[in-house]
Amino acid sequence: MIDHSHYHCPKCSRSLTKDKKVVLNFKRNEADEWNEIFLNPEPGNYDFYTVPTTFFEKGEHVKFCCPKCNADLTSKKDPKFVELKMKVNDFIYFEALFSSVYGDKRTYVITQDDIDVYGDASYEDIPFPDLSIGEVPY
Ligand SMILES: [Zn+2]
Repeated sequence: MIDHSHYHCPKCSRSLTKDKKVVLNFKRNEADEWNEIFLNPEPGNYDFYTVPTTFFEKGEHVKFCCPKCNADLTSKKDPKFVELKMKVNDFIYFEALFSSVYGDKRTYVITQDDIDVYGDASYEDIPFPDLSIGEVPY
């Protein structure tokens, strides 16, 4: 069984885990400032809280960046997804992608030879081209 709890920034590789949560910075479209969001590390679990509390609107696209290096975490595979590195062990990282549209509860974990789906995601409707599999990660 894979330990799903360790996430790292695809850019700076630093850990994004704090107090058993995944901590990212987020920004709403019309906002000027970035705030902290704490996500559940379990794929497909969209429980979260923000500081200060934010009430997102359904269908709202939220931007995310790395709290350590400020890298934009928008996936190159699909701009409506955020991409993180999921640490399996010191040598293996998977790509974890979750929807950055509020209310869209789709999470994909791209492993070495497969894509795992979580939440409302389904195998019939994978938004990334098959080409992405087998690509060398960052
Ligand atoms: Zn970073």
